[in-house]
Amino acid sequence: MNSSEVVDSGLNSPTLEALLTAIARLKTGIESLPPQEAVDYYHLLTAISVRFVPDLYEAYDACVASILATEKKKVTCSRSCSACCSHYVSSVEPFELIALDLHLKKRENYADLILASYNRTVTYEKILKAEASEEKPGAVAEEADDRALYRYFLRGRSCPYLEKDGSCGVYEWRPMACRMFFAESSPRFCAGKALASPWNRNFQVELPDVAEQALARCSRLLEGLELPEELFPGIVAVNGLFGRYEGPPGREVPSDSNGPEVSLP
Ligand code: SF4
Ligand code: SF4
Repeated sequence: MNSSEVVDSGLNSPTLEALLTAIARLKTGIESLPPQEAVDYYHLLTAISVRFVPDLYEAYDACVASILATEKKKVTCSRSCSACCSHYVSSVEPFELIALDLHLKKRENYADLILASYNRTVTYEKILKAEASEEKPGAVAEEADDRALYRYFLRGRSCPYLEKDGSCGVYEWRPMACRMFFAESSPRFCAGKALASPWNRNFQVELPDVAEQALARCSRLLEGLELPEELFPGIVAVNGLFGRYEGPPGREVPSDSNGPEVSLP
């Protein structure tokens, strides 16, 4: 997701302490795992993620709420408001992906969700590649990312986990990248080209550095898994890595909107 403003604020210490404790518990759990080559490694990693990620989310949400209160933000978001769910979600931690993946597996349409996620990623990568190729020498790479994210957003392709009534179908397991994104403006400025209007007041909440660094240390413990950070390629990679999901040969990806369809090899 991209945004025009990032809010980085101090927290009251009990809220921050609770978050750091939740992160430390998750880290201790990951550190207790056998080597990644062990047969039951992924099974145990899943159990650790499902055990500790909910506590992490609870503490994370409390921190975000504390920052919003401290900053006196007048948030206009509501649970069934969903224009922002057409952003391409990135920067998802690997333990979040693993917990979310387990949740998705309970769905009858699990395979369709994976395929739709894959389709979404391929589309975004194509846009990013096109933007990067038009970049002038010496340009900042982040600018290509921002333009690609905006172009992707304008296609109006909703997240595969968004329900028809506008609610998030994985609300309890939605990643921190979704939990940090807000608006102070009317929801109509979160949609389409109004996103770039001066009336749009989207913003992201950033945690204090000490918490961001603790999360990064947790993720680094899983570096060997080589899971991409993004939500959608990450979920595909989780399954590919452990050989649990292979797209049926030649099967078409369900269309999630007006973009090109892609078939898994
Ligand atoms: S960011 Fe915008 S679209 Fe998303 S919930 Fe908030 S007001 Fe609604
Ligand atoms: S995971 Fe949920 S909140 Fe996040 S983009 Fe998808 S539908 Fe929206």
